[in-house]
Amino acid sequence: PNTSPYIGRFAPSPSGLLHQGSLIAALASYLHARWHAGTWLVRMEDVDVSRCTRAYGLAQLQLLMDLGFEFDNNVMWQSERNAAYQAAFAQLQAQGRIYPCGCSRKEIADSRIALNTTATYSGACRHGMTDGKAIRSWRFRVDDEVIRWNDENGDSHMEAIAQSVGDFVLKRETPQGGEWAYQLAVVVDDAAQGVTHVVRGADLLDSTARQIALQQALNLPTPQYNHFPLLLNPQGEKISKREQAPALHALDGLSALQHAWQFLGGTYFECHDVPSFWSSVLPNATF
Ligand code: GLU
Repeated sequence: PNTSPYIGRFAPSPSGLLHQGSLIAALASYLHARWHAGTWLVRMEDVDVSRCTRAYGLAQLQLLMDLGFEFDNNVMWQSERNAAYQAAFAQLQAQGRIYPCGCSRKEIADSRIALNTTATYSGACRHGMTDGKAIRSWRFRVDDEVIRWNDENGDSHMEAIAQSVGDFVLKRETPQGGEWAYQLAVVVDDAAQGVTHVVRGADLLDSTARQIALQQALNLPTPQYNHFPLLLNPQGEKISKREQAPALHALDGLSALQHAWQFLGGTYFECHDVPSFWSSVLPNATF
């Protein structure tokens, strides 16, 4: 039996203010952690310095506090985790699992067409870069295997990353000295924080297999994943900061929380798999 204490987390990217979709992610992971009498951490995923700011991160934390979320003061900021990511990178490099890639976006797109591949990256630089090219990124050499996992919501998943994604980026070269990719940062940090349960939106389902592959290569445990359905706009699209979803303010916090609660309970929107998710979290709740 797994006797480790429950540790969950909410990991927003501070590229804007929180919106209704992010509040649902916060509430789902928060209630799941509380239901398990566990710890709930907040982690600021600000590796993308071109989009994320400290000010947005602080505003997000303030809003969570104003809405009554209780979390550990020790908020982890990914922009301060360079040494940890570098160590994981070096570990993978020592295993021969990383190679430099000189392909531009256009070359990647062209080679997908030329090779007629389903993968996002065809592996053009896998056996060495063409002479004279500059390094643009560092990629993880994916094994030809099928990754399987069972979501806590009852779904079973399998993915052959070599076919769906191909060798994926762990670090991008930038004039500022490089930028770590989300996939590497999230895996290193979930392990460093001892996260046992990841409750997050279904938009991240297609990242999970990559994260498990990295955990296996780094010899790190795989948390229990639980993906909940996404809040969609009337056009059926995911709402996001990029599409200017309205920012939440503490003043409308109560109605926003009620809305998030109802969404997760499945009474507000027609979303048929929500009640089953929620009843697994709060078996005694009535909606
Ligand atoms: N930072 C990611 C996002 O805001 C979430 C990462 C995760 O929950 O694994 O979409």
